[in-house]
Amino acid sequence: MTARVILQPRRARPFYGRHPWVYAGAIAAVEGAPSDGDIVDLLSHTGHFVARGLYNSRSKIRVRLYIWDADVPLDRAFFRKQLEDAIELRRLLGLEGPGRACRLVFSEGDGLSGCTVDRYDRWLALQFTSLGLAQRREWIVEALVELLQPTGIYQRTERGIGQLEGLEARDELIWGEAPSGPIEIAEGGVRFLVNLAEGQKTGFYLDQRDNRQAAAPLARGRRVLDGFCYTGGFGLHAACAGATSVLGIDQSGPALQLARENARRNGLDNLTFVQGNVFEEMAALAERGERFGMVVLDPPKFARTRQAVEEALRGYRHLQTLALRMLEPHGFLVVCCCSGLIRMDMLEDLLAQLAAEEKRMVQILQRRGPAPDHPVSVSCLESHYLKCLIAHVR
Ligand code: SAH
Repeated sequence: MTARVILQPRRARPFYGRHPWVYAGAIAAVEGAPSDGDIVDLLSHTGHFVARGLYNSRSKIRVRLYIWDADVPLDRAFFRKQLEDAIELRRLLGLEGPGRACRLVFSEGDGLSGCTVDRYDRWLALQFTSLGLAQRREWIVEALVELLQPTGIYQRTERGIGQLEGLEARDELIWGEAPSGPIEIAEGGVRFLVNLAEGQKTGFYLDQRDNRQAAAPLARGRRVLDGFCYTGGFGLHAACAGATSVLGIDQSGPALQLARENARRNGLDNLTFVQGNVFEEMAALAERGERFGMVVLDPPKFARTRQAVEEALRGYRHLQTLALRMLEPHGFLVVCCCSGLIRMDMLEDLLAQLAAEEKRMVQILQRRGPAPDHPVSVSCLESHYLKCLIAHVR
């Protein structure tokens, strides 16, 4: 018989609402001694079936839920159908095609908590953030091969996941053939090289695809500062749209090497990339009185825990103050934030304070989120983490 996880009284409501994460605090009892990764049924304290999922005693998320119908088994066919539906959405979004890149499966956003799949041309990057799905890797790989006929599949892992989930996974080719080097993809006419085996995340920040293209036209005829540029995303789009020059700053040497190669591949010679700490480099540029027509700030996740939110906001305050000082009249500020714990209204409040302090008028032109291949499940709004503000600064 399937093991059972019994909820505390009055704790069932989020799960009837299809939230997929059951934390230890909501659980009254576990019956049937499930092993980590096993299927469990989630029951209310009165014994009613609520949902079905996978158990992990080593994770703060004790159960990840996938099914809310007692008659549907959590089997190979179920996972294949979830993958198929996720892939169908990207086809409907028009994101498929040779040389293209997109997120095919986005964990909770696609009802597959703990599994992310990115496509780069003919290769896939598969990432597990849950033990239960990692244990079912063969099913998932087989379904992906059947549905997509990729040339090769890499497994990529997030830092710290071993500790969070008791999941031992390595970055390696797990199916098919490796590409001969970095893979070239096209994003709205701009060419990028992606290092699938060693790049950050799964190689490229796909969630920013539409934000890069939304900001680019405003950079025409302007000098652009691309802070936290990685392989040149925002800066390359800006340069292709007619920016006079771009200065990209990042601390990662390998990322900047690709950024320079990307500039060459796009036939651009007006980009400069500097390796360094954005906080220090921007302070030095401001000190020298340098001016820009557009400043892009796309830092990594500053706040991983609630306690870290205050400190993260201090980081944003610092960066945005420098940006406001360096922006010419009629400049454009692009501020991104990928910390789920920092909400859009918090970013806007901060910007309002800084506008007053720096005596600049700041007008929000666009409030943006991630590209649509990173769908947000209405049952799990935590999957909405990326915010992007495009503002005009007078
Ligand atoms: N804008 C990029 C993605 C940025 S991801 C794109 O469109 O592709 C965040 C980047 O910040 C990473 O490349 C990381 O190397 C860099 N980074 C993190 N902390 C940094 C710091 N203090 N100074 C400079 N770069 C930093």
